[in-house]
Amino acid sequence: MEVCYVLDASAFINGFPINTSNNFTVSEITAEIKDFNSRLKFDMAIEENKLIIEDVPCEYMDHVDECIAQSGDVLRLSIPDKKLIALAYMLFKKGKNVKVISDDYTIQNSLKIMNIPFSGVVTEGINEIYNWKKVCQGCKHEFDMDYPYDDCEICGSKIFKKRIKVKR
Ligand SMILES: [Zn+2]
Repeated sequence: MEVCYVLDASAFINGFPINTSNNFTVSEITAEIKDFNSRLKFDMAIEENKLIIEDVPCEYMDHVDECIAQSGDVLRLSIPDKKLIALAYMLFKKGKNVKVISDDYTIQNSLKIMNIPFSGVVTEGINEIYNWKKVCQGCKHEFDMDYPYDDCEICGSKIFKKRIKVKR
């Protein structure tokens, strides 16, 4: 089955070659394509019928929210990002052979959680799932993201957010 590429803004910006007519995206990403050349490429692809802009019903957006709610990525995804992931999920549910093209780390992590194939243009794609934790600068104690204070309750040092590798 031919691969349906779901293209993130970074696919255009980082020069993903648009050769087939099986490229999909959502209208919201146009706001993220600001430089002239990338924009030209985007417009050309639409004009040449190589890029299809799809509408994504809410139910698919809701499913994305549910899937990534636990990962800590949910707050870091923009609406266009979320919609793009929802589009990939929608095509996947329709039985398409989907591959998302994105160099966005947060998008890749979310796709990994949802078991949707992806590939980067620049990056090779990540192999692990990461989650956010709060870590004490002093004693290195790890707190969950819902730990409400900026200081460590054990040693009083400052706390910073860190990506922690988690087992799948
Ligand atoms: Zn501490």
